[in-house]
Amino acid sequence: MIKEFVEKNKLPKFRENQFNQAIYKDIAFSFDDITTWSKDLREKIKEEVEFFTLEEARVIVSKREDTIKALFKRKKDGKLIETVLMRHRDGRNTVCVSCMVGCPVNCRFCATGKMGFNGNLDAREIVDQVLWASRYLKKLDLEDQKVTNIVFMGMGEPMLNLKSVLESIDVFTDEDKYGMSTRRITISTSGFIPQMNQLFESGFRGRLAISLHAPNQKLRAELMPVAEKFELDELMRTLDNYVELTNKRVSYEYIMIKDKTDTAESARELVDLMKNRLHHVNLIPFNPVRGEDYKRSPKENIKRFTGILEDNGINFTIRVTMGDDVDAACGQLVTKVLKRERRTRD
Ligand code: SF4
Repeated sequence: MIKEFVEKNKLPKFRENQFNQAIYKDIAFSFDDITTWSKDLREKIKEEVEFFTLEEARVIVSKREDTIKALFKRKKDGKLIETVLMRHRDGRNTVCVSCMVGCPVNCRFCATGKMGFNGNLDAREIVDQVLWASRYLKKLDLEDQKVTNIVFMGMGEPMLNLKSVLESIDVFTDEDKYGMSTRRITISTSGFIPQMNQLFESGFRGRLAISLHAPNQKLRAELMPVAEKFELDELMRTLDNYVELTNKRVSYEYIMIKDKTDTAESARELVDLMKNRLHHVNLIPFNPVRGEDYKRSPKENIKRFTGILEDNGINFTIRVTMGDDVDAACGQLVTKVLKRERRTRD
């Protein structure tokens, strides 16, 4: 966007550098903060360019203040999206960004999937979520509070909006802009194989997270319609190629649903699937969604499941449920707000 503004107004290149410094490195709160520009130039950009493509509709902070969930209205069409900022105890600040309004993939356990698909975000709308988080952290006025990691795990399937996702990653990794290492960027996908191959061919060398959620084809296809088209065997072969190419381990997201994915048999199948693969399994406690009678795994099932993983040397963690009190799981807050709006209208 700055490139077009600079070109259109025939400005020298250094104006673009000053803009990037103010916006991405010094974290400006408005175009007025580009103090290296004249007042006239700042007024001009205000007339021509939107400072922020989103409008803050609500911000909820968890009791421990470690999870901040923002609900944004797109200025373009008023549709709602979510962004989550997680402040980890070890000093990392991770932003979980959305890349779509809703999601067309319709995984049965996912609140976003239940919303249906309402459009792709463009690269600026993705970048603006991270800029919002940077400004939030700057306002805290604490030392060293910067966005350190970005995960594409919010609303939407990144492989189905790959162009915008890659464009936003260019901004995050550009030395003149965010200057973040790709190692700090994670893309999560439910397994659209042709687009995953495109991602690998693009030279992306960040982290890859796979929404696995079931250890066999039958159960996976039941939970995730995408698995009917792109089967587990083929997915695992694609991931093996990625590991071969990058020597990076893959994160496998695995949702713990009572008596469905958390049985001893599932644990043993997961062991077989992970054996001899560079892996990390992230076990995710399930959050109930409307229209499905799945239940969260009880403690004893998790214990049995993790015991089997442990006995077989599987590398795993149980996702810390940060921000339960702010509906931090993907799509939960938007769903709640939309439901309330519908009730008010009816
Ligand atoms: S889990 Fe991801 S891919 Fe599946 S419906 Fe939810 S947002 Fe879409």
